[in-house]
Amino acid sequence: MVIIVTTDYERLAAINKSHLWHPFTQMKDYNNADPLIIERGEGIRLYDVQGRAYYDGFSSVWLNVHGHNVSELNQAIADQLGRVAHSTLLGMANIPAIELAEKLVRIAPKGLNKVFYSDSGATGVEIAIKMAFQYWHNRGARGKTTFITMNQAYHGDTIGAVSVGAIPMYHDVFRPMLFPSHVIPYPYAYRHEGGAAEALEATLTLLRKLLETRADEIAALIVEPIVQGASGMIVMPPGCLREMAALCSKHDVLLIADEVATGFGRTGAMFACDLESVSPDLMVVGKGLTGGYLPVAATLATDEIYEAFYADYHEQKTFFHGHSYTGNPLGCAVALASLKLFEERKIIEGVRAKASFVENKLAALKERPHIGDIRQKGLMIGIELVRDKGSREPYDWVERIGVRTSMRARELGMLTRPLGNVIVFIPPLVSTEAELESMIDILAESIVNVTEGSRAL
Ligand SMILES: *Cc1c(COP(=O)(O)O)cnc(C)c1O
Repeated sequence: MVIIVTTDYERLAAINKSHLWHPFTQMKDYNNADPLIIERGEGIRLYDVQGRAYYDGFSSVWLNVHGHNVSELNQAIADQLGRVAHSTLLGMANIPAIELAEKLVRIAPKGLNKVFYSDSGATGVEIAIKMAFQYWHNRGARGKTTFITMNQAYHGDTIGAVSVGAIPMYHDVFRPMLFPSHVIPYPYAYRHEGGAAEALEATLTLLRKLLETRADEIAALIVEPIVQGASGMIVMPPGCLREMAALCSKHDVLLIADEVATGFGRTGAMFACDLESVSPDLMVVGKGLTGGYLPVAATLATDEIYEAFYADYHEQKTFFHGHSYTGNPLGCAVALASLKLFEERKIIEGVRAKASFVENKLAALKERPHIGDIRQKGLMIGIELVRDKGSREPYDWVERIGVRTSMRARELGMLTRPLGNVIVFIPPLVSTEAELESMIDILAESIVNVTEGSRAL
């Protein structure tokens, strides 16, 4: 008799290889390496099944706020679980969904008085674009059917969200099944010959021209406010968002702020729109809404939008959209508990202080020969690696410099996931200065190891 002894890791790895298909992952590469399998989390660290600890240097893809396994958040879910795990929001309500709606309206930019729940950033975006479309339809402006987006925008992976997305590597293959959108340039200062001022001017000039000629065909402009995330953490020049909002308002085009990545303190304000006192017509939140615990998203709308749907039933102005888990009580309960911790622990004030600490630490890296640009807003950081610093020549994508650097960071004890040649550093908002310092040390060492080929800094 042959007894094959496998460890739990080997058993799980084999099943993972046999049956799991991972998101945004070339499975051929993935299956050729030993998978990382997480067992538990504590504070800002995650632990794998082999007992190794890693800093969560990207907040589990930009979600986590208060760390992992937080007793207050766990308790909120347990308490709600003792009452009911789920009941529908189709035609009825539940306590946490009601209380969270009130709370969201209180903290959101002014004018956003209505909350429509869903379960991911992408569905929240779908809702915003369908609401914008039907808003004009219900008001009789039936020609206003198209959208404006920005170059390299990312709004999620469902078909509507991809239609207002503009990242060729992800989106081009699906182009034949998408609705067309107008794309204006995103002001990418580092990659614009004229720097920030000219990049800003180019964006605003094209937007102005588009609105002056086509506003009667355009329902809304969708934007990732202040920081465009998935394109590489690209920070807008100051004033850009405010000016875009003013132009939309002047030309009667709705403004949709996709705060899925930037919301809930990430940029040093509750919402990135707050940084320029912008009140959008529609705002999408997700990711950090539940502190990174459960899949809840929300689309906030103004009274003006809501009222365009508010009519006698036979007028057919109802918003026919919903998801099975819309307004899930467990998710809403943990979101409420997370927002309570924001107040009690003064999370936003903390982010501002920590952001300057991080900025100072990262400044020491500016002279490294392959660090082209360090971009930061709050605790949302992207470090663009370049082959040649003088000419800003990028690394060829097949070199996978970002992937290699992130793999090295993992070996050194920190998890992150790159965006092309941009290294992402998005630590949980509760990270202490000591933890931030350790993570930046790992970041620096992995960048130097991979780009300069040395083992020591
Ligand atoms: C992550 C993200 C989304 C999509 O959210 P999911 O929950 O992954 O569907 C949409 N917009 C922005 C700006 C994001 O960063």
